[in-house]
Amino acid sequence: MIAKLGGHLGVAVFGLISFVLVALAVIGINRLTGFNIFSFSFWVFIPAGALLTGVAAASGYYFASLFFHTRPTWFLLAQILIVTAAAQLVIYYGEYRSLVLDDGTMASDAIGFRDYLDTYLRSMHLRAGHGGHIDTGEVGDFGYWLAVIDFVGFVLGGLFVFFMLQTYPSCWKCSRYLRKISKTGQMFSDHDLFAKHYDSLFQHPVGSKPFADLMRANPKIRKPAVDTVMMGSELLGCAHCKTQLLTQKVQILGKKGWKDIPKLTRQVRLPDGVDLRQVVKPG
Ligand SMILES: [Zn+2]
Repeated sequence: MIAKLGGHLGVAVFGLISFVLVALAVIGINRLTGFNIFSFSFWVFIPAGALLTGVAAASGYYFASLFFHTRPTWFLLAQILIVTAAAQLVIYYGEYRSLVLDDGTMASDAIGFRDYLDTYLRSMHLRAGHGGHIDTGEVGDFGYWLAVIDFVGFVLGGLFVFFMLQTYPSCWKCSRYLRKISKTGQMFSDHDLFAKHYDSLFQHPVGSKPFADLMRANPKIRKPAVDTVMMGSELLGCAHCKTQLLTQKVQILGKKGWKDIPKLTRQVRLPDGVDLRQVVKPG
């Protein structure tokens, strides 16, 4: 119980630190280069900069959760949302505090933050066209909507990180996150051969020699031809109870590169005591 609380506290601290670091980086880059990553967008309505900033800012929660083995809870989601809202204000405030007017005085000596923010949002310019050569002029009230769009982008970035944590494979016995142990790849030039392999593999007990032989057959080749099927196997394990999970992903080589076949992805929980480290390893 204490360890669990400690984990959640650790996640909260690391999450806050990453938010602060990202906010400082955005302010710093804006000050040095005049480029505002946070409000960078595609076609006005796609807040790419805010999305990326949100993901980067929430990454502290992600890595700390994996490190401390804390599952994503509603409490974590609430933290991400609150800190996100605060971070946007912090970014605006940081820009306000570091803005120097043309006559050399600090903007923060001349006007209050609320007036600054109002002017800032209303006087933003939209740029469109190739290389941004069409300037719409000052956006006025619409600037508030742009801030809302950025906020949504920021929150979506944070939500994305939360979702990644929720789907991260974890131990079904002790609910700790699984660690990647090893991986290997196999290639099949013939689709029928692949289908046979795919269907028959788990008909053998996972700890058996026929299973190991099938896993070692058809190693990767250097220059696969178009239509080659590749099966990537990854072994994950729980550091606590030694349980292992085998995941397999299938790709086909098209003219433009490898294409995932998601419906052939499978995850197989290995029985207690089975250790596939000697079987799932690069050939
Ligand atoms: Zn476990």
